[in-house]
Amino acid sequence: MSLVLFGVGGSVTAFGKELQSNAIRFHNAPAWLTERRLEKLTDRIQNVLEWDVRRIEATWHTDQREFETLHGFGPAVLAFARRADHSVHVGPRVDSSNFDETFGHELIHVILFQKYKDAIPRWLEEGLANYAAKAAKVDYAWLAKRAPFPDVRLMIHPFKAISAPEGKGAEGWRFHYVASQALIEMIASKCRLHELLQLSVGKKLETYLQTYCRIQDINVEFGKWVSKKAKVQPSALLRSP
Ligand SMILES: [Zn+2]
Repeated sequence: MSLVLFGVGGSVTAFGKELQSNAIRFHNAPAWLTERRLEKLTDRIQNVLEWDVRRIEATWHTDQREFETLHGFGPAVLAFARRADHSVHVGPRVDSSNFDETFGHELIHVILFQKYKDAIPRWLEEGLANYAAKAAKVDYAWLAKRAPFPDVRLMIHPFKAISAPEGKGAEGWRFHYVASQALIEMIASKCRLHELLQLSVGKKLETYLQTYCRIQDINVEFGKWVSKKAKVQPSALLRSP
């Protein structure tokens, strides 16, 4: 699931195009989206995660109400991937300027379903999707202000949890995405992420955090990492995306 907490400008565009790339059949695509752009984006994501996406259906939804009814998680959701059939759904607030980042994020969810099944813990999934989709940078100064942190391993789903340890509403969602991406950056600083992901195919990634990445206590290390990064983060990065 991809979320934005800041407004995205939209412009008038025509929809209804059917696109067919190697991996994706895209329904109701906007006029500006091309098969070439879809191929390029898919190739980049596939290379990062070393996986050829098995044929998926993607649909562009132009009616916000219908889109929200479909996912049931409220107005903040931009796009989502459905685990049941590996389909991707793009909402009306996505446009050419945020398409690659948003659709790339959802494609990563599909690859995580297809390649890793349940090997990647839920608390790392959104962060990995943002990290590999080259989404916005982690705002460590913002994150550091949320300390002391809840047990990060209890972050199950940014929208589903009623008593989410990360807090309720927009603040809780943001914490989930930002903390999850920061966790991926921390792990990548301690061991090779690529190798870690390879080790995790068919197994649980969590078991390798101790043995391969030498992270004894994820929560202790996370607290140290955030306060260290918050100190060195230049103020220019504090802008919201
Ligand atoms: Zn997501």
